[in-house]
Amino acid sequence: QAKAAGRHTFMRYTESMDSNSRRRAGLVASLRRAIERDELRLAYQPQLSLADGRIRCVEALLRWHSSEHGEVPPAQFIPLAEESGMIVAIGEWVLREACNTLSDWQRQGLDDISIAVNVSATQLLHSDLPRTVERILRETGVDPGQLELELTESVLMAKADLAAERLQFFRRIGVSIAVDDFGTGYSSLAYLRRLPITTLKIDKAFIDDLGRPGDTEDAAITTTVIAMARSLGLNVVAEGVETAEQLAFLRQHRCDVVQGYWLSPPLQARQCLEFVHGWPEREGSAMRAAAEEG
Ligand code: C2E
Ligand code: MG
Ligand code: MG
Ligand code: MG
Repeated sequence: QAKAAGRHTFMRYTESMDSNSRRRAGLVASLRRAIERDELRLAYQPQLSLADGRIRCVEALLRWHSSEHGEVPPAQFIPLAEESGMIVAIGEWVLREACNTLSDWQRQGLDDISIAVNVSATQLLHSDLPRTVERILRETGVDPGQLELELTESVLMAKADLAAERLQFFRRIGVSIAVDDFGTGYSSLAYLRRLPITTLKIDKAFIDDLGRPGDTEDAAITTTVIAMARSLGLNVVAEGVETAEQLAFLRQHRCDVVQGYWLSPPLQARQCLEFVHGWPEREGSAMRAAAEEG
């Protein structure tokens, strides 16, 4: 009896392993053809500067609509793209598409805005990213001062010397550097201070409970990060801001920039252009509503 049950459990386990790895293999095979099949798109999420109420930057977020698997979230396919090395080609597509969109927006009168692009470990450390970025900036006519690269802490810790050298190159040509998901890794500000970074993005996990009664830990972490970033001359962005309470808290503690559903979800290029164009008229009422709720 026990033996049979054991074998049954074992079989179920291997079967689910098989179906997992089959799905992964299927995704990888489809992803290989995603660029040529024109299945990739970027969504754009605006960021609001609290000091002047303006939208100065937009983050580009990759979307994959697979003909075989439907809409696949980045959290599923980015790791596969990393492991298989495809992230280098995909990342180059993302950079070019983001810069093309920005130059398109500029032609439509939106000249004072930057674009933030996520960069993975393999892209930074195992490809010639500096030359790729230079080439794409040249081809699209985007000013380096209008491009920000987002990297996570773990990428910067993995091969610190190479990462530092590459970041220095980007800063020399005028490209900004943000540390994404800050607070979830193991790096310290003391370490990051030695890297030529310009922006810290506080992870959504610390923002979620801000402004709720009883939250003291996340509030303490957030205010400390804001204060330290300020003293180091870094720009601070709060990620995943969804409520007026969170906004009020962040404003009170002088966070520089907010990004999240409270302002807007990621949008298609056209919608994002319209959103940014229309923001000055909507700003007053959005802020009043937030002040009443928050
Ligand atoms: P991330 O760079 O930290 O991006 C923020 C994620 O939070 C995005 O998820 C965004 O849609 C989501 N988000 C924004 N505001 C809110 C909010 O108020 N509430 C909630 N619940 N979520 C919010 P998304 O687009 O699914 O991307 C997930 C991650 O995938 C990104 O995290 C980034 O690490 C990675 N990723 C996305 N696009 C690219 C890319 O082009 N290249 C690379 N290497 N990674 C990418
Ligand atoms: Mg990001
Ligand atoms: Mg993030
Ligand atoms: Mg994240």
